[in-house]
Amino acid sequence: MSHAVAAAPPVKDEFSPFQAMADRFEAAADYLKLDKGVRDVLRTPDRELTVAIPIHMDSGELRVFTGYRVQHNFLRGPCKGGIRFAPDVNLDEVRALAAWMTWKCSIVGIPFGGGKGGVICDPKLLSQGELERITRRYTASIMDILGPDRDVPAPDVGTNEQTMAWIMDTYSMHVRRTSTAVVTGKPLNLGGSKGRREATGRGLMFAMREALKTMKDMPAQARIAVQGAGNVGGIGALLLHREGHKIVALSDERGAIHAPTGLDTPAVIAWLDEQARQPKEKRKFLDSYPGEHLTPKEKLLEIECDVLVPAAVENQITSRNVDRIKARLIVEGANGPTTAVADEVLDRRGIVVVPDILANAGGVTVSYFEWVQDRMGYFWTEEVVNARLEQTMVSSFAEVHSTAKKCGVSLRKAAYILALDRVATVYRQRGIFA
Ligand code: GLU
Repeated sequence: MSHAVAAAPPVKDEFSPFQAMADRFEAAADYLKLDKGVRDVLRTPDRELTVAIPIHMDSGELRVFTGYRVQHNFLRGPCKGGIRFAPDVNLDEVRALAAWMTWKCSIVGIPFGGGKGGVICDPKLLSQGELERITRRYTASIMDILGPDRDVPAPDVGTNEQTMAWIMDTYSMHVRRTSTAVVTGKPLNLGGSKGRREATGRGLMFAMREALKTMKDMPAQARIAVQGAGNVGGIGALLLHREGHKIVALSDERGAIHAPTGLDTPAVIAWLDEQARQPKEKRKFLDSYPGEHLTPKEKLLEIECDVLVPAAVENQITSRNVDRIKARLIVEGANGPTTAVADEVLDRRGIVVVPDILANAGGVTVSYFEWVQDRMGYFWTEEVVNARLEQTMVSSFAEVHSTAKKCGVSLRKAAYILALDRVATVYRQRGIFA
């Protein structure tokens, strides 16, 4: 005899990135009055691939790593999005990151859908040879769903230009021709774009500049705390310093430094660059940089400042610390740094948030420029790349801002409304293939 079991309501997990994406998605879909079927189409990832990556380690041991590639949506064009190498990567996170790419590409109006990949590994504990073997085997295993017209990866946490070069080469060897447009964020010699490395930080700087213009009583020289000193936070901090702002705190994976009157940002970034060139066992982190330190390093989020830039990973501003945030403006360099619960509190407290899917979209925007240049075989000057990036960020911010004003909602909700509306329109025009 079978017993009917009442389905338990889904447990809401504040720290699930996919839940965080879905909560914002539902709020925007409610506003747009999308019916259930359309919501299901837009929310559900189109394809999810999990692959085993067997590798001979330098020690001779054979180990199997796990890799993912999620293609969330390709209605607006090939899937686009980075590949993350990190010990805690999981399918829920990759799924969320893929969906965020769909919304991000839609907001900045570039002809891509969203995808994301990940490999569970700790790049800091792997040799160059091991990293190369993991990257090549992972690429070969997801080959069938990659391609300049299908799915175009890029760097993300734990991967870089070298990783992209290996992906490009592995793909090219399989298709028997050099196919540069299969990945972006490549070295310049291999079809990379000028300005791509700095693009996310530069885009963030433009987004902050536009946001500051819309706020009353913000100082021309803002005090900014930056969490994360990598490709987004480090470069972002340097560009914001050059714009005349004061970086009052900066953190990396081991430490956070603090100077209420402003850090010597160029010196800190030069020191970090020097450390990045050291062999892994000699490399130092901000916990050994001279000066005042914040402990634990997450205290950086709560210090006295005008602008907070979370530019590390997900789930940093949460129900646990949101009441202690002192910044009046948050510009999200990372993907998913604020949980949906914390968002509501920030809204109530009148703290303005430039959401990730707008604030960090400079990276994928210049990835698009790189893909276009590869396909044309004609490369642009850095001035042209930067000017087009600025144009894209300024107009995208203006569209999100005016939607927020018109609908009486936060910038985050406005960004989702715009993004979803555009993808839903394309869906209606294309219809369903059956
Ligand atoms: N990983 C970056 C992001 O999250 C860049 C993606 C891309 O350029 O495709 O936006």
